[in-house]
Amino acid sequence: MINYQQILDEIFQELQPTLTNGKVADYIPALAKVLPDQFAMSITLMDGTSHHIGCSDTKFSIQSISKVFTFTKALNIYSKELYRKVGREPSGNPFNSLVQLEYEHGIPRNPFINAGAIVVTDTLLSHYKNVDNTYDKILGFIQEISDNQDITYDRDVWFSEYKHGHRNIALANLMKSFNNLDNNVDDVVKTYFKHCAITMSTKELSRAMLFLANHGTDPITNKEFITSSQAKRINAVMLTCGHYDASGDFAFHVGLPGKSGVGGGIVAIVPKLMSIAVFSPRLNNWGNSYSGTKALEIFTNKTSLSIF
Ligand code: GLU
Repeated sequence: MINYQQILDEIFQELQPTLTNGKVADYIPALAKVLPDQFAMSITLMDGTSHHIGCSDTKFSIQSISKVFTFTKALNIYSKELYRKVGREPSGNPFNSLVQLEYEHGIPRNPFINAGAIVVTDTLLSHYKNVDNTYDKILGFIQEISDNQDITYDRDVWFSEYKHGHRNIALANLMKSFNNLDNNVDDVVKTYFKHCAITMSTKELSRAMLFLANHGTDPITNKEFITSSQAKRINAVMLTCGHYDASGDFAFHVGLPGKSGVGGGIVAIVPKLMSIAVFSPRLNNWGNSYSGTKALEIFTNKTSLSIF
């Protein structure tokens, strides 16, 4: 039987010398204020047992990890119709790239690059009608999945990204010009920035993602959030696209479906066993948590719990 707590303790020790490697995201000015050298890691097993190390109660900006929840919700509503607007192939490009979108006529490669997540948010806005209601429904869904009403967003981060989100706004305008966005650009990006600004701790995130380790059904509450085949597809897209142009590198080193965010969080799924969340805000050159990625690599090396 694996002693998970001991493994987390060892990971924490091994990471100490490199916790100052990498750089905190500063293209969203409010994110640059985060204490840079923090580290947390949580795992939640199928029976709800959990293990933690570091500042696992500290809430941080989940940023692109929110795209897992919005993709889940949109698949839930639209099923495979969703793929008319967004693909499911790796992009091999940075998270906010405009170039590929122009070549590919405004259809983003996958729901985890920014353009793809903006389209997914647009489909939710079409379904829920206005910014406030759509955000409330997304938040309500995350609260339900997390079995935790105590989740909300950081208004400063939201506003800061809205004020400085020129590239995302450009992506949205480009897609609008290709008729791949149904709603008003300002409404879509406001909603997108708001769900990116949701804050959660590693303790909360590892609990929330458990449904993806269990074929779409939360193993503790028994609520089915998505069908088993849709859960398979979300995990597949996390494995192939969850780390932007470093998705291959993450699969190579960690070997688990995962999704990162520029706030420094990463979630990863060990199918049928557990979900994992890590947080460390200094990022590597691809915009993924430097120590978070290392921690997951050490974890799968020590436990042999990769999917391969
Ligand atoms: N809100 C961020 C952006 O659109 C999300 C990027 C990320 O977390 O990777 O730039």
